[in-house]
Amino acid sequence: CGIVGYIGTKREAYPILIKGLKRLEYRGYDSAGVALINTDGSLNVYKTKGKVADLEAFCADKNITGTVGIAHTRWATHGEPSSVNAHPHYSQSKNLAIIHNGIIENYAEIKHRLIEKGVKFRSETDTEVLVQLIDYIQTRKNLSLLEAVQLALHQVIGAYAVALLDRRNPDTIIAARKQSPLVVGIGDGEFFLGSDASPIIEYTDKVVYLDDGNIAVMKLGQELKVVNILNEKLSPEIHTVDINLGQIE
Ligand code: GLU
Repeated sequence: CGIVGYIGTKREAYPILIKGLKRLEYRGYDSAGVALINTDGSLNVYKTKGKVADLEAFCADKNITGTVGIAHTRWATHGEPSSVNAHPHYSQSKNLAIIHNGIIENYAEIKHRLIEKGVKFRSETDTEVLVQLIDYIQTRKNLSLLEAVQLALHQVIGAYAVALLDRRNPDTIIAARKQSPLVVGIGDGEFFLGSDASPIIEYTDKVVYLDDGNIAVMKLGQELKVVNILNEKLSPEIHTVDINLGQIE
């Protein structure tokens, strides 16, 4: 189970995401997937059961371009290992895609409420409930993605590291954590995301270890913004990691 993310303008996201997933393979997983804002502005999900190498084979004949994306390795807790249950998960509108490590404990109750409101689910996962809830709140109340994420996380019981893409805001990745690790890398006009620093240190030595309850807004052209669900602004501590640590001969 691992999370990787990239948002920039100059580098292609897909190779960074795949390389990052490989660095996180040691954590164990049963399926893998990526979502990208493609160069034409569409939001697309590519995912499969099996190894990162299987995902690469699945993607080999597809023209996956774009400089913004998120990637995931799944260790199934709710719903069997399958390509439908693999992450990323779209919301019903397909405006949003989410990746999640952890467990949404009260997913059944929220899913029941959303189904009653007419929301259609594609997978068996607890994760899909979260992205559907965010989309439902956002659309219904006409809120920003950040506001909808904050309201949704308020309703959720469980542990999570999540990252979200929004087709309508292709310059932003939003990530949040509670009891699951998440690290942001700060580059020059670009941001990286990882379950640990290993997918990041190749590109930048400036990292922020998110704390429980943190929501990170990685928006192009802006500084990293970290808030909590009450929208209080937090001051993340930027660490400089020793990028040679991984290269001991
Ligand atoms: N609970 C989620 C699922 O089963 C995420 C599992 C994970 O941490 O990879 O899809």
